[in-house]
Amino acid sequence: MTKRQALEPLENAVASPATKRARVEDEDMESPPSINGRTTNRHIMALRRQDHHRIDITGAYGMEREDMEGVAALDNEGNAAIALPRRQAAPEEGYTDLYLDTIDRKVLDFDFEKLCSVTLSNINVYACLVCGKYYQGRGPKSQAYFHALEEGHHVYVNMETKKVYVLPEGYEVLSKSLDDIKFVVDPRMSKEEVARLDREPKVSWDLLNKEYIPGFVGMNNIKANDYFNVVVQALAHVAPLRNYFMLENMSTRPQLAQRFSTLVRKIWNPRAFKSHVSPHELLQEIALRSSKRFSLTEQSDPIDFLSWFLNNLHLAVGGSKTKPNSSIVQKVFQGTLKIESQEITARADAGDRLRFEDAAVKTETSKFLVLTLDLPAAPLFQDALERNMIPQVPLTTILSKYNGMQPQEKMKNRVRYRLLHPLPPYLVFHIKRFSKNKFVSERNPTIVTFPVRSLDMAPYVEPNPKAYPPGEPIWYDLVANITHEAVKKKDDSVEGEQETKVWRVQVRDRSRDEWVGVQDLFVEKERGETLFTKESYAQFWERRRVGVGANTEGKTKAS
Ligand SMILES: [Zn+2]
Repeated sequence: MTKRQALEPLENAVASPATKRARVEDEDMESPPSINGRTTNRHIMALRRQDHHRIDITGAYGMEREDMEGVAALDNEGNAAIALPRRQAAPEEGYTDLYLDTIDRKVLDFDFEKLCSVTLSNINVYACLVCGKYYQGRGPKSQAYFHALEEGHHVYVNMETKKVYVLPEGYEVLSKSLDDIKFVVDPRMSKEEVARLDREPKVSWDLLNKEYIPGFVGMNNIKANDYFNVVVQALAHVAPLRNYFMLENMSTRPQLAQRFSTLVRKIWNPRAFKSHVSPHELLQEIALRSSKRFSLTEQSDPIDFLSWFLNNLHLAVGGSKTKPNSSIVQKVFQGTLKIESQEITARADAGDRLRFEDAAVKTETSKFLVLTLDLPAAPLFQDALERNMIPQVPLTTILSKYNGMQPQEKMKNRVRYRLLHPLPPYLVFHIKRFSKNKFVSERNPTIVTFPVRSLDMAPYVEPNPKAYPPGEPIWYDLVANITHEAVKKKDDSVEGEQETKVWRVQVRDRSRDEWVGVQDLFVEKERGETLFTKESYAQFWERRRVGVGANTEGKTKAS
């Protein structure tokens, strides 16, 4: 249920998720109570010998029988052929740490999708702790077993159970000295540790002794996934969402939720081997789930991706398709909008098309996760000193779209919008810079100015004395800001200069009250006062918790 088969070669499809689970349990039992174990194993072995031909015909022998101990290799007739290394239930006495000094932590990178480097299966995968490669299975005839024989690499960790084994002998290593590796495979923090993330400034060092701040690490741009990186970085700094994915048990959830959870925990890992993360594993899943709409090889729009991701993440954690407030995603981001509309009739003259008339007004409410803000039209012409011509607009001006008074034209209607109480704990703004018509995609370079703190949202919300004291401000503070930069490609083509999009994100380090800018692997401190000088594209605002009395919406806060 938790693993999929889609990427596997057909011949591996015989192993259903159910048999895989059985196998894992099999392995767990394998840590032997020694004396009885021997009899039991012999018994199993006898049975399995009989099974062997039947199973081998399906080509699954290597996978299915990998837990056999001490068995000799069987040729096609089922006869024992050559003597293979003796399988052991435990290391020889006095050799408990044998081979552990061959582990090379610097080559270990558990961020890549766990696929056997030979079979490309994602089932029952082990990482070789000597060279870092992934291999399937650990029983005789398994890929990891062969790798141990061929390369003399002896120590392997199961990517799911995190148990470490020595191959080809096959015994489990119980040494505490491997805990750091197990932690990097799957970093887990306690509730108390997560609660301290935003309070205590922390510094860590990676294996190369490079200093890094957990939570503020670079993210690999494998090819063109910067649009994805900025969104994940921003979401990893939305505290209730982050905490949920760091602390909740995702083991029965779809891969999308599991892999996002792992990535968030890796971003905040205080004991990482390297000071950046790679989103490869999550991206592979997203490419699959979105039918390649979002991939690591082609740049997409961060807002398109964010909308897709939030909706799919919502479903992946059990959210309802119809019921509001049914997942952490909705609890954090979802708000309600009132839309009033009136058809523009023929008698409305051109200049006054948008003035609401004394006629029926249709009123609807609508749920939102992201609020779109429109930029005023940018001047058509720019002089040689382009910079001087870049227009600016305050955030509060474009927010007035939601003040319930400013009419706009939509389809054949005039419409006006207003937010309704309660506002969500986090507001996401999409500053609409790009427009596409049949021929070209156009960019509006207008700079939006904003303070990073104390944005009052009260003017855009319909008063409702039962929900919130009228006249009281509703403060929001910025936690993440995704910016666009148009980088001109230097080429001498006749068409002129081509622009490429570069995405960055600035996130707030709450423990230090500082801003950190991240562009893929590049991480640097930034000044809050100058964040607005870039082309802001998406903003994540956090509702400020205020003292009892002023905030009557405490119960809507996400836990
Ligand atoms: Zn190896």
